[in-house]
Amino acid sequence: MNDIFNCDKEYIANTYKRFPVCLKDGKGATVTDTNGKKYIDFGSGIAVNSFGYCDEKWVAAVTEQLGTLQHTSNLYYTEPGVKLAKLLCEKTGMRKVFFANSGAEANECAIKTARKYSFDKYADENRKDILSLHQSFHGRTLATLKATGQDVFHKYFDPFPQGFIYADANDLDSFKSAVNGGTVCAVMMELIQGEGGVNVLDADYVKNVCEYCDEHDILVIIDEVQTGNGRTGKMYAYEHFGIKPDLVTTAKGIAGGLPMGICYFGEKTENVLSYGDHGTTFGMNPVICAGALSVVERMDDEFLVGVLERSNYICDRLAECKRKVTVSGMGLMLGLETDKPSSAIANRCLEKGLLVLTAKTKVRLLPPLNISFEELKTGMDILTEVIDE
Ligand SMILES: *Cc1c(COP(=O)(O)O)cnc(C)c1O
Repeated sequence: MNDIFNCDKEYIANTYKRFPVCLKDGKGATVTDTNGKKYIDFGSGIAVNSFGYCDEKWVAAVTEQLGTLQHTSNLYYTEPGVKLAKLLCEKTGMRKVFFANSGAEANECAIKTARKYSFDKYADENRKDILSLHQSFHGRTLATLKATGQDVFHKYFDPFPQGFIYADANDLDSFKSAVNGGTVCAVMMELIQGEGGVNVLDADYVKNVCEYCDEHDILVIIDEVQTGNGRTGKMYAYEHFGIKPDLVTTAKGIAGGLPMGICYFGEKTENVLSYGDHGTTFGMNPVICAGALSVVERMDDEFLVGVLERSNYICDRLAECKRKVTVSGMGLMLGLETDKPSSAIANRCLEKGLLVLTAKTKVRLLPPLNISFEELKTGMDILTEVIDE
């Protein structure tokens, strides 16, 4: 295994700090490393493997499409993406989708759409700003880094694209003074800030922001890259907040482990982009769309109830800890805070056979949405033991 560690160090760009394990194969929520050690995975590859490792129906759907037609480009019609788009619009009430390959690209699409909407309607050079919230995370491209409301991401890569401003989350005065100048064309927010520490926005704040935006024709972009696709117990987290966004972006878990990003358009935005305004070679790839269809088709009400049952089980087990544990998040997107450093908990869990993530000071749990109760119990036995050590 040292060979792999050394080879990785020699040939892979040093952008990732990896845990010292090399994963080999997986089934359900259990993954095995090259030494044969098994782990329960409460991270799902950062909320990507919605149905765990190598779900049978998903593998069958993907491999069937792989052996039928793997790629055509967007110069031609193909079925899987159209079927998927129809299903997603029926499920959400959104009007159209654009298929991208990642969360950052989905957000780029939303930003471009918001700017063009404002350009088409107001032709005002000064009405182009995207307002985002402090502690947000929106991606790693130059524009989405700039949209990310954390100074640590705004180093080294200058000049960044212009036209991004920020406000404090859950602070309506901060929001109002930011939009006051009349320069804002869209507000972009995560309803649960994932990378920022699993912070759920206040429902009243979100409602007030959306009302203000509606009155001033400022578009609302909800970044559901992490919160989307059943993760919070609804298909999309905005359903918990009773709002109707103009643009919704998602990625991570939508295709069950294959790269896909989506930008959804609502009534105001469905016809903003036209021929040549946007595109991507791999967008709407049939293999990935077949994988996503197999995931989305199974996310019915009963499935979402199952997500909440698993969430309740986790919260009940954490409440039994001797050490005080503060829990944030919704559904199977949970942040835990104790008086121990989150990285120490994550490392100790790894030793004992459980994979968890961190987000700032919190331990972050994003288990597969259909994790078996047996695996869930085994994982929670380890986690509660580590917390109480
Ligand atoms: C992960 C994430 C992104 C970026 O997605 P990529 O697929 O890594 O480009 C954007 N927004 C949020 C909220 C995310 O969690």
